[in-house]
Amino acid sequence: MSCIFCRIVAGEVPAEVVAREPEVVAFLDVQPLADGHVLVVPRAHVAQLEDLEPAAADALFRAVVHLAGPVREALGAAGTTIGVNNGEATGQTVPHVHVHIVPRWPGDGAGSIHTIFPRRTKRTLPDVGAAIRARLE
Ligand SMILES: [Zn+2]
Repeated sequence: MSCIFCRIVAGEVPAEVVAREPEVVAFLDVQPLADGHVLVVPRAHVAQLEDLEPAAADALFRAVVHLAGPVREALGAAGTTIGVNNGEATGQTVPHVHVHIVPRWPGDGAGSIHTIFPRRTKRTLPDVGAAIRARLE
């Protein structure tokens, strides 16, 4: 087992675990973007979000919802940025789904999720909407 998150889930690699649930483990990122930067991972090794089984997806996001408030309160933060790098092209460096919960404070120097995109769109909203709806049918 070479996946670092699977090894943390299995208890083979030490981590500052904040929650262990039947389908989910949450622990502090060893390279935190801010104090209280938590990673929430499914126990099952799944590379991308869309490959999660429905029950695992439910458990993962229930855990994120459950943790967001306590993480914010424990750090005295004003809010949290919650995000997923989904796929290697997005900057996902560990191919095991993980949700970042990063506490935020006014004036912390970080931007919103919007600040990571250069807004280089080429297609109209109706064109994109129709393409996505067609895939859902
Ligand atoms: Zn894994």
